[in-house]
Amino acid sequence: MSIIQNAIDSIQIGIEDYEDGDDRRSVSAVRNISAGILLLYKEKLCQLSPPDNKELLIKQNIRPVKNDNGDIIFEGKGHKTVDVQSIKERFKSLNVAVDWKRFDEINKLRNDLEHYYTAESPDAVREIVAKSFLLIRDFLSEYLEKDPQEILGDEAWAILLEVSEVYSAEEKSCKKSIDAIDWKYDSVKNSLEYLRCSQCHSSLIQAPDNEDSYPTINLHCKSCNFDFSFIDVVEQCIDDSLSGEAHMAIKDGGESPYDTCFECDQSTFIHSEGCCVACDYQMEYTHCEMCEEPLSIEEQYNEGKCSYCQYRWEKIMAE
Ligand SMILES: [Zn+2]
Ligand SMILES: [Zn+2]
Ligand SMILES: [Zn+2]
Repeated sequence: MSIIQNAIDSIQIGIEDYEDGDDRRSVSAVRNISAGILLLYKEKLCQLSPPDNKELLIKQNIRPVKNDNGDIIFEGKGHKTVDVQSIKERFKSLNVAVDWKRFDEINKLRNDLEHYYTAESPDAVREIVAKSFLLIRDFLSEYLEKDPQEILGDEAWAILLEVSEVYSAEEKSCKKSIDAIDWKYDSVKNSLEYLRCSQCHSSLIQAPDNEDSYPTINLHCKSCNFDFSFIDVVEQCIDDSLSGEAHMAIKDGGESPYDTCFECDQSTFIHSEGCCVACDYQMEYTHCEMCEEPLSIEEQYNEGKCSYCQYRWEKIMAE
């Protein structure tokens, strides 16, 4: 069977699992749909492979060899097929643009779901199906030049369309209530795309009362009806929002955009805000009283001196 047919079968079986309504099949729905997406990507790699070796680009290891004519050609080595990272790299060098941010988000949701799934989180499954639908639809039409409705079949298409419409309507109404809140800090506002229910991981979170004042903002999960406060999840949001940037900055020898707060001990002290977005703590000592160098948050312990001056001062005192 061809790869594209396998991909479509996998997606269709996933949709059947989803429609079944049996909780245990929800995880299987998500797995099948994800597998289907990867197969679509592999189909594209086969299409882009040279005519005399149609499976070259789906081989994880490719090596140059000399053929009988003495020309250099490439051949696949071993049976291993491409993993996600290699697909990303090959698509990048072959100018195939996939919304990898969405793909990675779906993957993360899928992993979360396998760990946290409860019967009360049907919307978490719906979210994954809805987001997968957009990836499948766009990739089929843009890169495989197929009519998604035709190839998926009317039945599967109708289900996907409905899931996607219901989800986006709910998402819209949640977003409206979140946007009505004064989040006080830009960095917090930016981190809200990572706001999720701590019980079921759904992103369908409402802020029922727009009079609430930051940071004690009441939140309600539309998926499992769990009520919580923003103060309980602020650290998680900030961490999800800035950890990638922090990682890159540190790798390049720079500074993390956020640190552990001296006052509340959460990773919510944001340098661009000049304060902690959870407890409003601001650094008491900004410059060293001896050498006037700017002080970091860890140096607050020295009560006014930088680490170097503190060290020298301690040495002098000990003599
Ligand atoms: Zn929930
Ligand atoms: Zn704090
Ligand atoms: Zn100093």
